[in-house]
Formats: sequence, structure tokens, C-alpha cells
Amino acid sequence: MNPDILQTPIEYLKGVGPLRADILRKELGIDKYQDLIQLFPNRYIDKTRYYKVNELQQNGADVQLIGYITNFRTVEQKKGRRLVATFRDDTGTMELVWFRGQKWITENTKRDQPYVIFGKVNWYNGFSMAHPEMELFSEHEKSMRSAMQAIYPSTEKLAQKGISNRVIIKLMEQLFMATKGRFLENLPQSISQELKLISKSKAMFNIHFPQSQDLLSRAQYRLKFEELFYIQLQLLSKNINRKSKIKGYVFETVGVSFKTFYDTYLPFELTGAQKRVIKEIRNDLGSGAQMNRLLQGDVGSGKTIVALMSMLLAIDNGFQTTLVAPTEILATQHYNGIVELVKDMGLAVRLLTGSTKTSARKEIHQQLLSGELHILIGTHAVLEDKVSFKNLGLAIVDEQHRFGVAQRAKLWRKNQIPPHILVMTATPIPRTLAMSLYGDLDISVIDELPPGRKPITTVHRYDSNRLKVFRFIKDEIQKGRQIYIVYPLIQESEKLDYKDLMDGYESIAREFPAPEFQISIVHGQMKPADKDYEMERFIKGETQIMVATTVIEVGVNVPNASVMIIESAERFGLSQLHQLRGRVGRGAEQSYCILMTSHKLSSDSKTRLQTMVSTNDGFEIAEVDLKLRGPGDLMGTQQSGILNLKIADIVKDNDILKAARHYASVILKKDPKFAMSEHQAMRQNYLLLNKDRKIWNYIS
Ligand code: ADP
Ligand code: MG
Repeated sequence: MNPDILQTPIEYLKGVGPLRADILRKELGIDKYQDLIQLFPNRYIDKTRYYKVNELQQNGADVQLIGYITNFRTVEQKKGRRLVATFRDDTGTMELVWFRGQKWITENTKRDQPYVIFGKVNWYNGFSMAHPEMELFSEHEKSMRSAMQAIYPSTEKLAQKGISNRVIIKLMEQLFMATKGRFLENLPQSISQELKLISKSKAMFNIHFPQSQDLLSRAQYRLKFEELFYIQLQLLSKNINRKSKIKGYVFETVGVSFKTFYDTYLPFELTGAQKRVIKEIRNDLGSGAQMNRLLQGDVGSGKTIVALMSMLLAIDNGFQTTLVAPTEILATQHYNGIVELVKDMGLAVRLLTGSTKTSARKEIHQQLLSGELHILIGTHAVLEDKVSFKNLGLAIVDEQHRFGVAQRAKLWRKNQIPPHILVMTATPIPRTLAMSLYGDLDISVIDELPPGRKPITTVHRYDSNRLKVFRFIKDEIQKGRQIYIVYPLIQESEKLDYKDLMDGYESIAREFPAPEFQISIVHGQMKPADKDYEMERFIKGETQIMVATTVIEVGVNVPNASVMIIESAERFGLSQLHQLRGRVGRGAEQSYCILMTSHKLSSDSKTRLQTMVSTNDGFEIAEVDLKLRGPGDLMGTQQSGILNLKIADIVKDNDILKAARHYASVILKKDPKFAMSEHQAMRQNYLLLNKDRKIWNYIS
């Protein structure tokens, strides 16, 4: 085949013409032959198989059955009436239903001969099928039918203009005639052989005209693999390019601070996962290329100590280092924690936030420039242009999802040679998604919690059970524990939320009166200093209850707090619920998370609550979240274009994605410039895809 034929404008295809071409362009974005061939079916109707009534499942599938149709009757309903008949085979019965054409059906259906019926089954106190396709079994046997029929994506406009599924199938047939069904093989033979992939031509034919279920599955696998393989090839080679182009400082030595800390001041044994990640980071820092690494670890998995030890590596090699956190509270907490850990090591550590006084700020600027300051901990204030370092070697960003790519870039520019960058996030991103979204970052995962943690017990309670919950809180306080009570804060209705919070606070204050009980309150409309003051009282144990909005979501560490109550839990997303729950379970005591809701719950809310109750595993929760919301809504994916996948599904095709990534990296190792003769077809395709900016512009 002449490959250029796929570049032919769609109007030239037999059966299209200018009018239909116009609609196809507008409705489906089909401009050339190439685009039509990549219009992949949404689903298929399997007409190879006959079901029995007792095999039907409650999933609304299209099925085909053979049996007798009897017992017609009409049922009056609010608007008009429906015709109902009984369908019977040798295993059972179900109902057939018609809302239109009832007279014709009643008069023309033969009661004494078997029919083949086809349609979607519904389940409501038994199975039924509305408006089935019907054909006498005797007729059906005579006709020749393709095994499986493709159902293509459609729109209302297309349907109105008469471009039905049947028409698309016809056009597809024309296209296969025009191209003789031959498509250039574009995967290296080594891969096709190893994975036993079917050829491109065979896959294309079977995706549109499946000859069997088996061939359809293989066609889908091959095409999904191909799509993901090229994306991974692009992402990985971009990463390799960056590493070879962007030099990083080489941290050669593991020096005295790191060793001293490890031998003397490290307050616990590192977990295996922490050790592994520190090793990964050390490798990066010694490699000569700039590190750009994402560290994922569930709440409480111990990322801070990893950050600190990486910072010590920088200091040992004569560099300064900074740790940036998204909120003042969190930055302060990091500062206090780190100062405590390194207090006897003679290191200069300072805190820079929005509320740092001008005089202190000046001093910090000056100490940064002179190189006197080793560690700067702070908020966004650190990113400001006027903050410059003598030699910033490593920048660490905590809680990545609050930071954009642009802010990361600011850190890059703090030096001539960009510092190494470690981004830490406690919002687990399913690994496959992370691989696709953060192609420019290497990924480390802490997948192990420090020993001795008791799993948090999570329960769901309705508002009507509030009194019992209050009693439980009292018991826990009596045992010396502290309690969080969190209210939702969603920007659009900030005022209302604020009212909810204040109402809640008042009723809690009534239930838990001073002086026996002390309550802190923290919310977004308070001055930072007041927030800190309240937070501080809670951290010190002066207050037993912390009433707050989600400002306490990130990072805060109060080991004695063992109960997290989340009000209107149905209004929170899964990852947010998980983050909030992570505020408890940090001490030795058994911790609890209580999700309060009204009785009115959507099915998604129910799934979220059930997931929270049933697991503490952040990655598992992230997977459910991804399934519920789709990749489109996940943080950072909005403009990612990952959604533009034509056939693969980032959620469902996890395993294929992993394989694609693996093989892409194998190829890049073996032949980074695509110079080998067996890689020429692949190279051509790669360049073609690269040229098409639309496909690649999501790569940051
Ligand atoms: P996160 O990953 O959520 O930032 P942190 O770094 O705040 O977690 O660690 C949570 C708690 O676990 C801290 O109190 C920390 O001191 C403790 N911790 C971290 N690593 C270990 C370990 N290996 N053994 C015991 N406790 C640890
Ligand atoms: Mg943390």
C-alpha cells in the first residue's frame, strides 16, 4: 500500500462526499482516511453466541437467545400502555416489552415457532428485554451474518443526518477496499515476536471486523500496546534527553553529617522502603545528571526523614538545601522537627514564611548569599526571586499536589546549574497514571509503614447518631486522647461552609463545656498568627478538641490525637478523606476515623465511604478514586491530554501500559537513536507522531 493514501481527505472515500465529510469532521474530527481508520468501536455485539435464560446476568449486556414468544398482554401505565409477552426457552422465562408498534407485533408474531431474539437485557425483579430484534429461527439459519458487529461512537447530529452505525460500517468497508487492508507494520519485530502480537494489518481488520472473540482480543491488545508504547517511547526519551543535556551537581561523598546523623541521631531504624528510596536518591545525586524525582509515600510513611537525610548529603558535599511546604503550619512543623533532630550537629537551619519579619528576612537573605545557612525551610516565600542562594544543591518540595510545574521551574532557576529536585507527595497517584503524567520525573515509592502502627478503625455514622459519637469522644478524652473535628470547605460556598463550621463549633462547645474541656478552632479566614496559636495549643495538649476546616489536611503531626471526625463526609473526595484520616494513627494508641453523613447519599458517595471503611491503603484508595472520577478530574491531569488516547484506557489497561513502558525502555537502551535497520519503521512512525503536536503537547 502507498502509505500516503491514509492522508487522503475523507470526502474522496466512496460513499462520503462533501456533505458527509463536513459532518464527519465536525462531529468526530475525521479529516482524512487515517482518522476514520482510527475511529475505534466502543463495543461489539456478539452474535456468535446464544444465551439461555438461566445464563443471563444483571449487567445490561446485549444478548441473543432462542425460544418461543407467547402470552401477549397489555399493561396500562401512566402514559399510554405497554405490550408485554413471555419469552420461554428450556431453562426459563423472561419478559419482552414494547412501547411502540404494539399492534403489528401482536398480529405478526408466530406463537408456535421458535424465534431468535437479540437485545439488551434489563433486570428489575426478573429479566426483561425492550424492543428486541426478532427473527424466526428458520429464517435466521438461512442468512449469513458476521460474527461480531462493531458499534462506533456516535452523536445526535450524526444520527439526525442519517450517518448511522450501519453507514459507518459501510464506509469502513470502503476504506479497507481502498487500502487493500494493508497497513505498515510499525512495531519492532523483536517485540511482536516476544509478545506474540498479531500484525498491524490483521489487528486493524479485526478491530473493525472481528472474525472471532479471540482475534478481537488480540487486535485490541496489539493496538493498545502500540498506542501506549509510542507514548512511553516519547516520555522516556524525553527523560533521557534531559539527563544527558542538563548537568547536575555531583554529590560524590557520603560525608560526616550524613554518617553522624545515621549513627548517632536517627531516632529509629529506617524501614526497608526508606532505605531503598534513600539509595535511589543517592544514586541520582551521584550520577552527574540533575535529579528530578517524585517521592510517593502514604501519609505517615516517613518521608520527612528521607528528605532530611537527602539534605545532609547535599550539605556534606558543600551545598545548601531547602525544603518547601505548602502551608505555614506545615513549614513550621518541619522546621521544628528538623531543628530537633539535628540540634547537636552544628548546622544552620532557618525558617522563611510569609510572616517572617523583615529584619529576620534580611538576615536570612544575607546568610543564604554568604553560604552560612545550610538548610532553609519555608513556604512559597522561598520561591520568590529575591531569595537567592550561594549554592543551592538540592530543593525538596513537600506535598506536591499543591505545587504546579511552574513553581518547580522557579526552583530550577535558583542556580546556573539547576539544583537537584525531590518532590514529595502523600496523595498516592496510581503508579500507571504517574508513569504517564510525570514522564519527566523518576519515581520512588515508600510502600511500607514504620513498624508498630495500629491500623486506624474507620466507621460511617449518620448524623442521627451524633449523641453516641459525642459519648465516644468523651470517653476518649477521658483516656487522655485528643480529637479532630473537621468541616468541609468548598470554595464556591465559602460563606455557607463558614456558617456550618461556626454552628458546629457552637454545638460542640455546648456539649463539651469549659473548664473541663478546651477547644481549639482553626479555619481559613483566621490570621496566620491566630491559626498558629490555636494549632500550638492543640499540639501542646492544652486543648483536647480541634475544630477545623481542611486547613489541617496536610502534614500536621499530633501523635496524641487519636480520633478524626469528618463532618459531611459525603462532600469530600476520596483522596481528601484519606489525607484527613492520616492525621490520626500517628501514636501508639488505637485510632479512629468517624465519617459523619446525612442519610441522603449518592451511589458514588456510598462507594467512597465504603472504600474508606474497608481499607487504609492509600494506593488502593487512589485506584478507586481514579475509577470513580476518571483520570480527567485527578489533580494535574486536566490539561494533560492523556485523555486523548484513541483505544487504550489508562485505568483499565494497566498491565499493557506496564509492558509498553518496559519494552520502550528496552529499545531505548539498545538503540537510543533508533539507528538500527529493524527500527526504521518504528522511527518513521515516531517522527510522524512527534510532528503531530496535538498528540504530544501534554508532556510537561
Ligand atoms: P509523612 O510521610 O506523612 O510525611 P512523616 O515523615 O511525618 O510521614 O512520619 C510520620 C511519623 O513516623 C513521624 O512521627 C516519624 O518520626 C515517624 N517515623 C518515620 N520513619 C519511621 C521509622 N522508620 N520508624 C519509626 N517511626 C518512623
Ligand atoms: Mg509529611
